[in-house]
Order: sequence, then C-alpha cells, then structure tokens
Amino acid sequence: MSTKVAVITGSNKGIGLAIVRALCKEYQGDVYITARDAGRGQEAVESMASEGLKPKFHQLDINDQKSIATAAAYFKDKYGGVDVLINNAGIAFKAADTTPFPVQAEVTLKTNYFATRDMLTHFLPLVKAGGRVVNVSSFVGARTLNKCNAALQQRFRSEDISEEELTALMEQFVDQAKKGEHEKGGWPDTAYGTSKTGLTVLSMIHARRLSKERPNDGILVNACCPGWVRTDMAGSKAPKSPDEGAITPVYLALLPPGATEPHGKFVSDKEVQTW
Ligand code: NDP
Repeated sequence: MSTKVAVITGSNKGIGLAIVRALCKEYQGDVYITARDAGRGQEAVESMASEGLKPKFHQLDINDQKSIATAAAYFKDKYGGVDVLINNAGIAFKAADTTPFPVQAEVTLKTNYFATRDMLTHFLPLVKAGGRVVNVSSFVGARTLNKCNAALQQRFRSEDISEEELTALMEQFVDQAKKGEHEKGGWPDTAYGTSKTGLTVLSMIHARRLSKERPNDGILVNACCPGWVRTDMAGSKAPKSPDEGAITPVYLALLPPGATEPHGKFVSDKEVQTW
C-alpha cells in the first residue's frame, strides 16, 4: 500500500506546527510542514527533530499560484495525491494596527479567503478516497455571520450558495471596504471576521460538492475553530497553548475510516456548532 500523507499549510509555527507535532505522533504516514519561507520551514523541521519527530518539508506560499501548483504537482507525483489537507495558514492585523481598513480588507481576504480557495482549487481534486480536509477558520467568523445583514446571513446559511456566488460576495466586501461603503452594504466592520465567514461557507460548499460528485469516496471536509490560542497572531494572553489549539483540527484530520460525519460543518472543541 502506498504511503499516506498529511499536508499542513503555514505550519512553521503556531497552531500549524502544533498540528504537525500531534500528527507526527498519531498519524500513520508522512507529515509535511509547509511554509512560505524555506528557511523558517527548515528551522521548524529541526525543532521537531529535537523532539524526536520527523516531519518532512515542502515550500508552499498560498499567495503564490506557482508555489501552490508546484507543491500540488509534487504531492501528486510522489504520493498520487494527499490523504489529509489542513489549510491552517492565515493572517490577522493586530487591533492596534493603523493600516487603513481598505488595505486590511484587501490583504486579509487575499490570504484567508482567496489564497485558501486557490489551495483548494489545486488540492481538492488530489484528495484521495477516505481523505480529510480541515480548514482552520475561527469563532470570529461565526460571530461575524450574525452581524451581517439579513440578506447576507440568508445566503451564507443557504444550501444552494455556489462557490462563484460566495467569491463574488467576498469581492464585493473588499470593493465596498475600499469605498468606505461596506457597512452600508450590510457587512460588519471586520476584515478578519469576514474572511473566516467566507472560509467556513466555502468548506460547506466543498463538502456538498464532494458528496454529490464523489459520493463513494468518503471524503470529509470541515471548518473548525482552534479556540483562542497563544501564538504570534493572538498574543500571550490567550488561554490555550498551541498544542491545545491543535486538538480540534487533529480530531477532524483523524476521523476514522468509514466515518460519515461531521462533514460540511463548523466544529469547535470537537463539537459541531450551529451556523
Ligand atoms: P501564527 O501567526 O502563529 O501562524 C500563522 C502561520 O501562517 C505562519 O506559519 C505563517 O507563516 C503562515 N502564513 C501566513 N501567510 C501565509 C502564506 N501566504 N503562505 C503560507 N503560509 C502563510 O497564527 P496562528 O497559529 O495563531 O494561526 C493559525 C490559524 O489559526 C490561522 O488561520 C488563524 O486565523 C487561525 N486561528 C487562530 C486563533 C488563535 O487564537 N491563535 C483563533 C482562531 C483561528 P510565516 O511564519 O511565514 O508568517
């Protein structure tokens, strides 16, 4: 039987690296640290080696289509696809950052929504039967959903929203933010929250699509919140350690063979949350 493989984006530090640590211990297969910067990625591999763990490394900048395509080709060639894909890479401006909101909106959505979508465009077709896809979203995305106007909430909760419609709505948010009109358009004043609302809805769309197009492949796709975790993103006051933050993403990545749920859900503390 061919070697199984798990790929984690943005895993040179933070929650991503903690996911790597857990999978190195619990997953029967190769575990890949991926990072946009090869130096930081190699350092992470060495830090894992000092703990007696042996992840592998591949460069992967999700904002770079060429890097995504190169990595996808590598995993297709070497493993015939991927078994576990964890889209963890993400960014957030600090609350105190004075970068103008239109720029924050564009930059945040670019990585957290559009680049993660590019990853999925390339990698979803590579996910093997029995595969698990975990998109690291946030409770902030759920909170943001509830602050959208009624029409947007209806679309984000609907079963018939398409990837194209969702992507057009994410583009609309950025366009309106650039004109200072997003609140008039029914959006809350949060770029990070909106990007994570989008990522959660995208996960639900992909789950429905896979159920329809590959009904016998048993692939499970979910979005999750790791909790509030002490990392460079969230700061030192957060209650959870990175290893604790990794628990729910790892649980979803290791849903046992034959499991049929959760699928297309938003999961926090290993529990399906109301969307
Ligand atoms: P960190 O800032 O510690 O780590 C983020 C990781 O993403 C880094 O490895 C970073 O790489 C990587 N990254 C950013 N942009 C790219 C890119 N274009 N291509 C590849 N990798 C990239 O954050 P966390 O570990 O806290 O966050 C991980 C995920 O968890 C994020 O999606 C975040 O939104 C989510 N999350 C975090 C919470 C928390 O409390 N910490 C709460 C809810 C959700 P580099 O080192 O090169 O910058």
